[in-house]
Amino acid sequence: MPTLLGMTQQRTIDDLRAEIDQINRELLALISRRGEVVAQIGHAKSAEGRPNHYDPAREEQQLKELEKLNPGPFPTATVKTIFKEIFKASLALEESNDKKQLLVSRKVKSEDTVLDIDGVRIGGGEAPVIIAGPCSIESEEQMEQTAAFLQGKGVRILRGGAYKPRTSPYGFQGMGVDGLILGSRVAKEHGQLFVTEVMDTRDVDVVSEYADILQIGARNMHNFALLREVGRARRPVLLKRGLSATIEEWLYAAEYILSEGNNEVILCERGIRTYEKWTRNTLDLSAVALAKQETHLPVIVDVTHAAGRRDLLIPLAKAAIAVGADGIHVEVHPSPATALSDNEQQLDFAGYEKFLAGVGSLLQAPAVAA
Ligand code: PEP
Ligand code: MN
Repeated sequence: MPTLLGMTQQRTIDDLRAEIDQINRELLALISRRGEVVAQIGHAKSAEGRPNHYDPAREEQQLKELEKLNPGPFPTATVKTIFKEIFKASLALEESNDKKQLLVSRKVKSEDTVLDIDGVRIGGGEAPVIIAGPCSIESEEQMEQTAAFLQGKGVRILRGGAYKPRTSPYGFQGMGVDGLILGSRVAKEHGQLFVTEVMDTRDVDVVSEYADILQIGARNMHNFALLREVGRARRPVLLKRGLSATIEEWLYAAEYILSEGNNEVILCERGIRTYEKWTRNTLDLSAVALAKQETHLPVIVDVTHAAGRRDLLIPLAKAAIAVGADGIHVEVHPSPATALSDNEQQLDFAGYEKFLAGVGSLLQAPAVAA
């Protein structure tokens, strides 16, 4: 039997706890109301074209006011810590409201976008696709051999550049329209889709005529006129991440395409420039995971341009698939040593076979349709 005194104490604690519960409810209602006001400020700022950024002066002003008003028992430092958390959450709310508007965002479309290009499905948990082929289209023999070899390995998407973004204006610039005609014909003959880069707004029509997928190269990721133009084209777009582009810039580049009405965008991480010299670029796996998390678009990884060397392709492809990539892009050439571009990094046919065996069942391409 509890003593009378014990029972009184028990009742008092229960009462106090009930009061705490009520205070919690009131605090929650107040914090939520504060959040709504913050959201209204965000909308007002957007309407005025002002960014919803962290404003240290405004935070400082609020903290000073709270310091003056603090009645205790909490020390001012504690009150400040609590309010700083509230400020941080409010800022995150403003930022997420900003992002909510983006067409690429999962907040706008929660389910994965799955592309179905003539029966080749990309994204949404389908088996990872392989996009393979030479860096540049160089000759009929080269394309014919490569396409036939890759067809035998079940590769459904053939790549090859007809317009090449070369560092030197004196380097091989690609075969142009002749390359488009060749690439498109050879791909078709081998039951493959043809993906090739378009570098100039003036070429979007002709490239769309021959290619099944338009590639925007890393160097053109910031070419907003080109992004808008392919946004108006009736072809899926493979959008490479810029050499030094942040993830946000990359996603905004995709937004340019979607904003023009083209929802068929495949994001392609191809390594970014860092101080590292042992690889051509640094493959950013966080970008793959984040792009999958933040957007509904398929994301593929170009292991060849990321590494710039052949000996890292297997572990990089495995890692890419482990973080959720929907496909792998790899350069394959019948004779890399004599290739007119990227001859350090392309795989020959034996190299591709080893690559496939090394990555194993993770990368099993679907069988070629009869
Ligand atoms: C390419 O795919 O051949 C190419 C030039 O790639 P990137 O734009 O990623 O450098
Ligand atoms: Mn290349």
